[in-house]
Amino acid sequence: MKAPAKSSGSSSPAVSTPAPSAAADPGRKPGEGEGFDFFSLLAEHEHEQVSAYYDPSTGYRGLIAIHSTVLGPALGGTRFWNYQSDRDALIDALRLARGMTYKAAVAGLNLGGGKGVIIGDNRTTRREALFRAHGRHVESLKGRYITAEDVGTSTADMEYIKAETNHVTGLIGRSGDPSPVTAFGVYRGIKACVRYRSGSDSLSGKAVALQGCGSVGYHLAKLLHAEGASITCTDIDPQRVKRVVEDSAAKAVAPDAIYDVRASIFAPCALGAVINDDTVQRLQVEIVAGAANNQLAEDRHGDLLERRGITYAPDYVINGGGLINVNAELHGWAPERARSKAGEIYDTLLRVFEIAREEGCPSYRAADRLAEQRIAAIAKVRRNFV
Ligand code: NAD
Repeated sequence: MKAPAKSSGSSSPAVSTPAPSAAADPGRKPGEGEGFDFFSLLAEHEHEQVSAYYDPSTGYRGLIAIHSTVLGPALGGTRFWNYQSDRDALIDALRLARGMTYKAAVAGLNLGGGKGVIIGDNRTTRREALFRAHGRHVESLKGRYITAEDVGTSTADMEYIKAETNHVTGLIGRSGDPSPVTAFGVYRGIKACVRYRSGSDSLSGKAVALQGCGSVGYHLAKLLHAEGASITCTDIDPQRVKRVVEDSAAKAVAPDAIYDVRASIFAPCALGAVINDDTVQRLQVEIVAGAANNQLAEDRHGDLLERRGITYAPDYVINGGGLINVNAELHGWAPERARSKAGEIYDTLLRVFEIAREEGCPSYRAADRLAEQRIAAIAKVRRNFV
């Protein structure tokens, strides 16, 4: 299996390649004017399956990509986006499905990687029939793929899907907001990074520069503050900054100033691609560890962090709490079990850093190795008919 091109495969739109909806041609018929080497795309990263389904009554056009089911059913959200071409939609589905395989593997979950895409304008108000068509598509795969929310879809859409299939998660009134579990996993991950650098994992007296005071950022700040860390935070929403300043005794700075804050840890919890040509030189920290998906604008920015002596917690390892929360819903885990599983991110990150040292590679590549090792080991165990 090949390593993924830097992708957490989760719900961030940050590195998705779709064109803005205005660029799409609404008159275009499915597949019109395109020719592409379908199986080469699947072969490139050894995807197992792609399913395409068209429903003329609703205009539903959906793809489901299954990258791997070695560890378990392929899980990944459904993205609803006005892709410029069917090829773009397929490539996005393949890329995101592969990312989910790696994310589930390093989280120690018995899940594979998959992703659904619905091609169209996600602002449509005619949703029930469309999402029920998608539900029937999911059902046709008989549990090989389990879907959830993603960009352009909501919990209400998942309820429509549920009318047609049980292979859907993230339903109203079930596992709920994943951000406290994600924040706990990030907190444990930050402690692992600090231990890796200094031998002790205490955060007392450590300075943290927190980008993003949203759902995860808010909960993370509280955990850091409770352990005696001092926080400098930012957000483009002043109300969200205010909450963190008041509840976690943080100091606020302007959004762009966060990259220049001298601190032990930079915790990106807002957007993707925040480690880029501009910011990588500005950071005055020892550690980059936060919840945001796809933090590295390009892989080479992970190499640049390494060269600057900055420890990077690979995003899809440290932010695995969200997926752990979904898994908890699937298996009826109690909240404490999900939290405890997210706490294991501490040991996983230490293992990632160990692999990086052994193999002389940057941490983002070591995370891929760890995922591949687990998938290969389980594939061997399961090769016999039982
Ligand atoms: P959120 O939308 O609640 O919070 C994001 C915050 O970032 C918002 O307050 C927003 O105003 C702020 N922001 C946007 N642009 C900014 C900028 N330029 N500078 C500073 N702040 C900016 O999202 P969240 O659920 O807290 O997730 C945060 C990140 O973690 C996202 O990248 C998300 O994809 C990722 N993530 C979240 C979870 C989860 O469980 N919620 C799981 C895995 C990964």
